[in-house]
Amino acid sequence: SSPAPAPRVCVVGSGPAGFYTAQHILKHHGGALVDIYEKLPVPFGLVRFGVAPDHPEVKNVINTFTQTAHSERCAYYGNVTVGRDVTVPELQRAYHAVVLSYGAEDNRVLGIPGENLPGVYSARAFVGWYNGLPENRDLKPDLSCDTALILGHGNVALDIARILLSPLQLLRKTDITDSSLAALACSKVKRVWLVGRRGPLQVAFTIKELREMINLPGARAVLDPADFTGLESAVKDAPRPRKRLTELMMKTALEKPVEMQAGAAAPREWGLKFQRSPLEVLPSADGSRARGVRLALTRLEGSGDSAKAVPTGDEEELECGLVLSSIGYRSLPLDPAVPFDSQRGVIPNSSGRVEGVPGLYCSGWVKRGPTGVIITTMNDSFDTAQSVLEDLQGGVLDASPFREGFGLVESILRSRGVRPVSFSDWQKIDAAEVARGKAAGKPREKIVDPAEMLAAAPA
Ligand code: FAD
Repeated sequence: SSPAPAPRVCVVGSGPAGFYTAQHILKHHGGALVDIYEKLPVPFGLVRFGVAPDHPEVKNVINTFTQTAHSERCAYYGNVTVGRDVTVPELQRAYHAVVLSYGAEDNRVLGIPGENLPGVYSARAFVGWYNGLPENRDLKPDLSCDTALILGHGNVALDIARILLSPLQLLRKTDITDSSLAALACSKVKRVWLVGRRGPLQVAFTIKELREMINLPGARAVLDPADFTGLESAVKDAPRPRKRLTELMMKTALEKPVEMQAGAAAPREWGLKFQRSPLEVLPSADGSRARGVRLALTRLEGSGDSAKAVPTGDEEELECGLVLSSIGYRSLPLDPAVPFDSQRGVIPNSSGRVEGVPGLYCSGWVKRGPTGVIITTMNDSFDTAQSVLEDLQGGVLDASPFREGFGLVESILRSRGVRPVSFSDWQKIDAAEVARGKAAGKPREKIVDPAEMLAAAPA
């Protein structure tokens, strides 16, 4: 009898979820063919457009992804927006299995008056701006004020605070875009408040990011010892990471600044403000921009991770010219053919199998919600890949009917005037970026205009 035909799998999205899912399927199924589709010409999702420019070591996962892309059984097609250039039902006709790993491309909104005033930005847009995400390249955030307020107590909030307060020479040798570096060079921001609805025991950032802030040259931490009263006993039985994190905040709050001599004060400062929930972004007198935020003071009901912030009735105003809301990313529905839980912002699934649609899978942030680091995303992508493999092996997924794979998609794309970008095209773009960065001593100077990306990889 003839050998079983190779199953064709496609993956939508080339972030960590897409690449780790592909990697696991290729490794554990000797015949499977995997095609990765990506909306942008350039791959790697938030590894390129989210991870902070001064964390180059985090981006080393790109080497592993590149190895996967070089597999003979793997192909990459960038510049293809699934849901627009090709639909999910069309992919289902071309492949035995379709894995959706398109991440979380939107942000949660505050839902308060003044949120749309000039001077207010989502963390997603701000991060996209300094990382060269095409849609945010013209953000031009106004950095002419001295105080910024970040709403949120997660790692993204700390990334932004660090970028705002870092000495320029620390950023100059990173892959931060040239135009954002120029804007930061003129920035007047010297104070950053990070505001959260709950208390020190509920912060969502990790110790590495906190330590980086504490050790940031030229910036002083302003933490109020009163915020930590009584926490020593509360944290005694907490899991070790939470305990160490809280202890570091307490130690910092109690430390006397070392250099108290005149003139030695740090020119910049940052601090954590707890148990404050935003009520309104306040407009300047002429209504033209943000001048501060009105906050509701809260008390906590319950304890630990599940503690709820309840308004006490007291309010406070904080002056600031820049407001960054870092309260979370959000996935969007992709295609009417794919079920979507808009309440939770995820595709309903069990172990990555999309509910009610055999042959359709999901992984990464669109599967479990927009939290967790790359390792978390890796584990959940392996879990999804395992489901695909089990379904192939157990016959749930019938791989015997011939599926054309990219051959079919290619003709669809051609009829719609879409030019896919291959992985070797990406390597030309990559080389162009590296060459551009060389003169300035940067690992790369990112191309931020999709048309220019395409021009760097001529067809
Ligand atoms: P993504 O990385 O967002 O990838 C999704 C991909 O799908 C993107 O390339 C997108 O362009 C593509 N796509 C979207 N729509 C379509 C479509 N319609 N058709 C085709 N393709 C599409 N983790 C760490 O471990 N260390 C860090 O330092 C770190 N820093 C972070 C900083 C920020 C600001 C953020 C937001 C996250 C950070 N993370 C970090 C977390 C990490 O980035 C995520 O865990 C991970 O990227 C999620 O992977 P994903 O593949 O689900 O989503």
